[in-house]
Amino acid sequence: MFMKFPARFRHSMTNLYESLGVGRKASQKEIEEAYLSLKKVFTDDTMDSMAQSMMADAKMAYECLSNPEKREEYDEYLSSHLKVAGYQRRFANDFSESDTEEEERTKKRDKDRGKRRFEEQDQFFNEKFMNGYNSRRRKAQEEEFHQSIKNFTSKGEDVKVEITIDFKESVRGTTKGLMIDKDVKCHTCKGTRAAKDTEISICYSCKGKGLKKDQLFGSLIKCNTCEGHGKIPVKRCGTCNGKGLISQQIGENIVIPPLTEHGDYLKLANLGHTSAYEGGEAGDLIVKIDIYNNGHYVRDGFDIYSLLPVTVSDALLGTYLEVKTIDGNTTTVVIKRGTMHKDLIKLPEKGLYDQESGKYGDHYAKVYLQIPTNITKEVNDLIKGCF
Ligand SMILES: [Zn+2]
Ligand SMILES: [Zn+2]
Repeated sequence: MFMKFPARFRHSMTNLYESLGVGRKASQKEIEEAYLSLKKVFTDDTMDSMAQSMMADAKMAYECLSNPEKREEYDEYLSSHLKVAGYQRRFANDFSESDTEEEERTKKRDKDRGKRRFEEQDQFFNEKFMNGYNSRRRKAQEEEFHQSIKNFTSKGEDVKVEITIDFKESVRGTTKGLMIDKDVKCHTCKGTRAAKDTEISICYSCKGKGLKKDQLFGSLIKCNTCEGHGKIPVKRCGTCNGKGLISQQIGENIVIPPLTEHGDYLKLANLGHTSAYEGGEAGDLIVKIDIYNNGHYVRDGFDIYSLLPVTVSDALLGTYLEVKTIDGNTTTVVIKRGTMHKDLIKLPEKGLYDQESGKYGDHYAKVYLQIPTNITKEVNDLIKGCF
């Protein structure tokens, strides 16, 4: 006898009663009315694909449940999950006769136990097929649901950008204006995803929660009928193509704090893409800092290093040279006679200001000896004669 209704009914993730939004004890009239009222809403041929799949589910459910014979088999299929010893014993006890008091007591005990089991199984059934909340478990399930809402990725996507600043800006901190491509709420549908003056239906599959209980593992998962929205537009908005969001260039001022390092990331909370979900917070804006410094300065704590090109004659004979410091000024330094390649010339307190100690770091100019590679025979002989 197993099963006359098509296999697709059995494998449907959605309970057939749920697809129509009716209870398991609904009368034929109620089933018919539920289906007709759904049909009334979902009439447009151009309706959204999610609405189409929901309507297809409802149609399939109606085909089965409106036929008493098929409905009976479907009910039996659902009930077959309840066939456990306790459940059967309960009925066995109900119809048997008892002789002694002892037997009476035993039967009473078995009956209670059976009843308890029956209740447990009933609860199992409710959760598995009816997505129901019975009073005993309601509170825990509600809590679990709200927890999942928190974990559910209703948050908008992050926006990632890269900003190039120069060394001085990285040291002192700066503010940069930036145009960012961001998803914002669609102006036409105001984020509802529905075309103007068309209906938005509550998703029958998840009853508008956007989440469903996974029938195998019992955990809450995103409802695939409504993609987590809980609502289904009958006809999608043409401007955003049913996304509820459109891309727009938005100007943002990015405040970069002092002493930012090359490759640092700044996370600006909720300045990312707007969430497609009702009440979902916006994503974050992630800014990668790229420091452009021409290789001129290198920072080590509060000290600054820079290269100072020195000619061979200056290194030999000594001279005065100017060094540009990070405050934008120049300081004159002495190149002593016999200065060597990579010698460090210290410019005291010309480094960065350390707020904690209230002192300035130092600036070190590193000698970079410029040794000529092309020398004439004349110069060659001259040098040979000197040393
Ligand atoms: Zn729109
Ligand atoms: Zn849903």
